[in-house]
Amino acid sequence: ARVRWTIGNWKQNLFRGTAELLATDIVEGIPAELLEGPVRTKIGVAPTLVALDALAPWSRPAGPLYLFGQNCAAQEEGAFTGEVGPGQLADVGAHGAILGHSERRTHFREDDALIARKVQCALQAGLRVVLCVGEGLEVRESGEHENFVISQLSASLAEVDPELFQDRLILAYEPVWAIGTGKTASARDVGAMHKRIRSWLTEHHGATGADRSILYGGSVKPGNAAGLMAAGDVDGFLVGGASLEAEAFLQIVRLVA
Ligand code: 13P
Repeated sequence: ARVRWTIGNWKQNLFRGTAELLATDIVEGIPAELLEGPVRTKIGVAPTLVALDALAPWSRPAGPLYLFGQNCAAQEEGAFTGEVGPGQLADVGAHGAILGHSERRTHFREDDALIARKVQCALQAGLRVVLCVGEGLEVRESGEHENFVISQLSASLAEVDPELFQDRLILAYEPVWAIGTGKTASARDVGAMHKRIRSWLTEHHGATGADRSILYGGSVKPGNAAGLMAAGDVDGFLVGGASLEAEAFLQIVRLVA
């Protein structure tokens, strides 16, 4: 069965102390039935790398949060100055990594081929992966957005061994024009894209593909989360700005669950 996720991408915000405070506020506000009953949404946060280990007391299995890095090297270790490999992320408490985020693709020129190697390396090391795909405004306006996203998806997964294609792989559709802009894709657009992604996954990876969680990201707020969840084929959210406020993030968590 498909798992629901609400994941906060804190980007390059907060310090160890403020990250700890935000994690405390989130954990204290998680409704008890989400923690005691069958979990209806898994909750993740992706803090700055240097705060990952500080969040250990709130993270699974001690606490309710899954921790994610915001990036990961394409190789396990070696002479790669400035890089952090998947084993090193796991060593400081990460359960997974966000890969292929549009900010990495744009500002750091990460292409599909590099992302494909990162995805394989992280899955191989036992991490969960949130693989992000999404089109820019020009592509959306040209009407080619679905083909563009499917080609990104297929290229970003090109290096992944089929046997690693399983519950540790999570997809996120984040249209670039909706990130941090206050513009959200309509529920209809999101539903159509997620449906297309799911049919590609099913066609290429059978039942395992069909069962992947597909999250939406891009200006998700408490006010639009319910409508987006109702779009169909939406298994939760990757939340940027609103995840920096505990109450807003918790409202979104409750709407996903
Ligand atoms: P915003 O929610 O701030 O638009 O960011 C979305 C995002 O990039 C999550 O990864």
